Formats: sequence, structure tokens, C-alpha cells
Amino acid sequence: MPNYTRADLAFEHGVGAYLFDTAGRRFLDFGAGIATSSLGHGHPHLTGEIAKQAAKVMHVSNLYRVPQAERLAARYVEATFADSVFFCNSGAEANEGLVKAMRKTMADAGKPERYRVICFEGAFHGRTLAMIAATGNPKYQAGFGPVVDGFDHVPFNNLNAVRAAITAETAGILVEPVQGEGGIRPAQLQFLRDLRTTCDEFGILLGMDEVQTGMGRTGKFFAHEWAGIAPDVMSIAKGIGGGFPMAAVLANERVAKSLVPGSHGTTFGGGPLACAAGNAVLDVILAPGFLDEVDATGRYLWRGLLDLCVKYPTVFTEARGAGLIVGLKCAVPNGEVQTAAMAEGLLTVAAGDNVLRLVPPLIVRQAECDEALALLERTARRCMPMPVQDAAK
Ligand SMILES: *Cc1c(COP(=O)(O)O)cnc(C)c1O
Repeated sequence: MPNYTRADLAFEHGVGAYLFDTAGRRFLDFGAGIATSSLGHGHPHLTGEIAKQAAKVMHVSNLYRVPQAERLAARYVEATFADSVFFCNSGAEANEGLVKAMRKTMADAGKPERYRVICFEGAFHGRTLAMIAATGNPKYQAGFGPVVDGFDHVPFNNLNAVRAAITAETAGILVEPVQGEGGIRPAQLQFLRDLRTTCDEFGILLGMDEVQTGMGRTGKFFAHEWAGIAPDVMSIAKGIGGGFPMAAVLANERVAKSLVPGSHGTTFGGGPLACAAGNAVLDVILAPGFLDEVDATGRYLWRGLLDLCVKYPTVFTEARGAGLIVGLKCAVPNGEVQTAAMAEGLLTVAAGDNVLRLVPPLIVRQAECDEALALLERTARRCMPMPVQDAAK
């Protein structure tokens, strides 16, 4: 179906942070399949574990125990705020589960009238009918009405607006610690802390969408850790399978106990193959020192991006983000910058608010950041608006 605008490129294989197209051209991949190929391409541990599991058994359904999923869930519980995990297949599906769990928690507490979720302007939560309502962007809703009821939107990083929007019908708040699709807009850490205390004050639930920010991307296992708080429920996806499609909802006991047998489910979610991939990704990300390395690499890249903004202010006006989810706000159309970068051999992703998004694999090294910065410099020279006096000649 014609629902994508694709670049005329096809990749034949990848190694680490590099992709090779069918013509043998090499690209430095700072898009990572939209922040998803967290271990880069062809990571031997990940591909090895997937191949081993595929040869044993790929799918059995949730009619039976799945040891790979039990192990993965136990590891998430050990390393996060969560007491329980539900596995599924995509970010949108995880967010659907998150909102269902919020509503059910309230219903079980005798407050079924508390079904509404407060979301933020600039958010992105996925493409299902309920998630285009949660996302709230008219661009994603056009033609798909009527819009699913139950989502209210307030300005991002504005606590007064959040507090004013809470009513007797509010079940909880859903927030991205760094808005990804919306243009790499980080929540202020104090704002996240204030959301936590506000939820406690009103007896409502704090939900985090860490589909893009989670799994080490910001230099901590999950981005909310920077604020020193914990949500009640969290959706994760993108990088958690290192490119293998999978997602999960993590929740504390209060929320998790609402999803009693038969209340929610999925055919594919939490299968042996996906969970083998998930465990392999965790082996790498939770290895001692790995997240510190992501943090250090992120800070290194950051300094270079700030320099670029100083040097090419007519192309890049601002760098923002955290760790290895960073955005360059562009003074020229971001699509043109993305295309120019691609021509230079650098893959990036456009984001909202005219931002060029850089989300390299987490295994990226300083030398590859240097290469990306050099390619971005060449890109900036290609994209610089023509000086007025030259244009007049
Ligand atoms: C990508 C994304 C989603 C949707 O994930 P899909 O796997 O495409 O359904 C939801 N929330 C955030 C923050 C995302 O970045």
C-alpha cells in the first residue's frame, strides 16, 4: 500500500554501525531503523541466540509456559521498578495494554468513571485507533474518525496545565521522558518528579512511554531513572529486541494485578524467539560498564553537535536530547538535510519540529561519532542557504 515514502535505497547487509546497500555503498547508520537496532547490525551474540532458538522452537503461544519469557521478565523486574511484565509485539500494542491496565486498575478500585488519560502536545504513542487519539496530532487522525474518546492533551513541561486538566474522570498521565517523533524534546527532570508527586496526590497513575527512550538509549537503562522516580506502568519496544519485533508493558503490583486471566492477551507476544532476542540484548546492555559507555559516547557526540550549531547556524540552530537520542533543530527543511546527509553516506531520521534525529546503535564508538560529525559538516555545507549577495549576482 502507498502509505510510506521510501528512499530509493535497499540494504544488503550490515556490520556494527554500518549498512551496505545492494550496490555495495557503505552508510554510517545513525538512524538504527528508528532507534531500534540497538546493538547495531550483525551482532554475533544476538544473531547467534536467535539462530539457536529458531532451530529449537519458534512459537508455542501463551497457552503454555515460555521459559525464555519467564527469564526475560525476571531480569526486567530485577533491573527496574516493575513487579510484572506483559510481552507483546509493537510499541502501539504496548501502549494499548498500558492504557487498558490503567483503566482496569481504576475500575477494580471501584472508580470505573476514571478512564481518561492525560497526554502531551507533541507526543507520539503509535498508530492504532486509540493511540492516534493518545498522540493527538490531527495529521495522524485525518480521515480515521471518529477519534477514540478518553485522552486529554496539555502542553509539555507545564505542570500547572497538567494539574488543571485532572478531573474526577482521570485515570492517569502518559508521558515520554524525551519526546521522540515530536522532535527530541526532553522533559525537564523536575517536571517528571512533579508528575510523580501530582499522581500520588490525586491517586492517579503515572505511565511512561519509553518505547524510544528506554533500553539504554539515554545512558541509563530507562530514561526516567535520570529523574530519580518510578512510573506505575511503562511501555517499551523498539530497541528491546535489537531489531527483532517485540514490546512489553512493565508495571508495579497495583497495576499488574488488574490484568487477571482472560482480561488481555496476544498470540505472538512473549514467544521463545522474541524472548531469546530480548535476553541476548539484555546480556549486552546490562553487562558492567556498557551504559556508562553509552553515556560517555553520548556526551562526546553532544560536544561535536554543539560545535556544528556554532559553525553552521544557518543550517543547525540547536542540539537537544539525552545520551544517544539527540536532535538537531534545522533552519532549513529537515527533509533536505536528511537527504543531503544520506548522499554523504550518513543515515538519520527526520522528527517533528523540523528536527534531524540521530539515534545510532548503542554500540557506536567515538571514532564513528567523529565520522558522523564530519559527514554532518559536509551535509551542512551542502544545505547552507546561498548568501544574498551571491544570489543577486
Ligand atoms: C515508535 C513509537 C511508538 C510506536 O511503536 P510501534 O512499534 O511503531 O507501534 C510509540 N511510542 C513511542 C514513544 C515511539 O517512539
